Amino acid sequence: MYILMLASECAPVAKVGGLADVVFGLSRELEVRGHAVEIILPKYDRMRYDQIWGLQPVYNDLWVPWGGGAIHCTVFFGFVHGRKCFFIEPHSEENFFNRGAYYGFPDEHLRFAFFTKAAMEFMLKSNKRPDIIHTHDWQTALAAPLLYEIYANQGMPFQRVCHTVHNFKHQGIAGEEVLWKTGLGRPEYYFDRYRMGDDSNPSAINFTKGAIVYSNFITTVSPRYAWEAMHTDQGFGLGHILWVHRAKFGGVLNGLDYEMWNPQTDPRLAANYDLHSLDNKYINKRALRGRLWLADTYKPIITYVGRLDPQKGLHLIRHAIYYALANGAQFVLLGSSPEAHINDEFWRIKHELNDNPDCHLEIGYDEELAHLIYAGADILVLPSLFEPCGLTQMIGLRYGTIPVVRAVGGLADTVFDRDWSDKPPNERNGYVFHQADEPALESALGRAIGLWQHYPEQFRQLIENGMRYDYSWNHPGQHYLNIYEFIRHR
Ligand code: ADP
Repeated sequence: MYILMLASECAPVAKVGGLADVVFGLSRELEVRGHAVEIILPKYDRMRYDQIWGLQPVYNDLWVPWGGGAIHCTVFFGFVHGRKCFFIEPHSEENFFNRGAYYGFPDEHLRFAFFTKAAMEFMLKSNKRPDIIHTHDWQTALAAPLLYEIYANQGMPFQRVCHTVHNFKHQGIAGEEVLWKTGLGRPEYYFDRYRMGDDSNPSAINFTKGAIVYSNFITTVSPRYAWEAMHTDQGFGLGHILWVHRAKFGGVLNGLDYEMWNPQTDPRLAANYDLHSLDNKYINKRALRGRLWLADTYKPIITYVGRLDPQKGLHLIRHAIYYALANGAQFVLLGSSPEAHINDEFWRIKHELNDNPDCHLEIGYDEELAHLIYAGADILVLPSLFEPCGLTQMIGLRYGTIPVVRAVGGLADTVFDRDWSDKPPNERNGYVFHQADEPALESALGRAIGLWQHYPEQFRQLIENGMRYDYSWNHPGQHYLNIYEFIRHR
């Protein structure tokens, strides 16, 4: 099959968040399975050009219709760690992608509507006829409406679209200007609620709704999050339209990059290990204690690694620190927030616990330390309020660190409670709680600490169960191929 990814990010060349990892990881998996994959991205000025090999212009005069006129673009090609990537560079006074940042501009919807339009135009003019166009998040969500309303009639009748929503919070809402610019026009037609009309704003279109209505298949990043989007406030107003189109909507768990996250080969660890050399994990525990000046005593290390975002359940993370210290455990936190008041709050806790030999809070971003923490810690807490997929718990499982999670989104799909899950005992891999409050967190974290302290052999068994799971791109890759196969030729 020939698959074309259309996205605003791809790791490591243009990465802001998890979307970038998915675009790269899924593309690699599909190629490993023998499929032809190409990725189209905007040519941002601030991309990591050192991560692109052989960048060169391959299409010089791409004229993209835009409003009453057209914008002249150059298309570049280069390899990003083996992936074939095209980069679209518009030459216009709007300077869409030469602004020193990926996101955060008042004309955001025009920037990405233009990119999507340009990508469609590039396919048309350069005779690219992929079997599947796979679009990601609101930035490229207009591809499906553009395909079926314009390009299908201009020479692309057989292309099919799969759209993935990575976070329903960001949907792309814009006024009719976008319709005129992209050549869709006809606001009264598109403002229809069952087409692209936004439910809370009668004179606006919703890009994501457009993708839901027009795509041949819509996925999101975990089965539980798919259910939550349809049936709870996690759909941020799109629950109804998802329900209408539920026959072509589903959740596919993201994969974890098993090359980057491999305790057997990870160069950032003090000692490598796997299921059969688990004792080496404790060399990392000692190294972690040494690095963070923690006491070398008989206690489990509990950790939180991740953004300090309200989404992650900050009050419960804070509570976990005090609970762990009061119950015979150590705590290590690595995280930061772009919001000063959140960082300040954790700095305050850090100062308060400064003299405590069982606690270390590292407020910042440190990739290398993160690897050592995953390897050296015993238990990982993730009390998220919502979590579309979540990679941290998968990393924890791979590194033999027991996840204690709240049962939301991808966390509920990947972690199974040791005591209460309906899975067979050898498939249970962590602890799960439901309510977003302190007693619920304590009930799960308390059980985890208790097992470590009183039943070390069973704790080790739980670690082994977790390490045996395969959360690589292997399964999701096959799942996406099944979807592509299903929508192809329809
Ligand atoms: P989200 O996409 O909501 O941030 P995920 O669990 O999907 O959460 O991915 C988080 C990734 O970012 C993990 O690989 C985690 O190790 C990494 N990460 C987050 N914060 C930090 C930090 N402060 N230092 C190092 N790595 C971090």
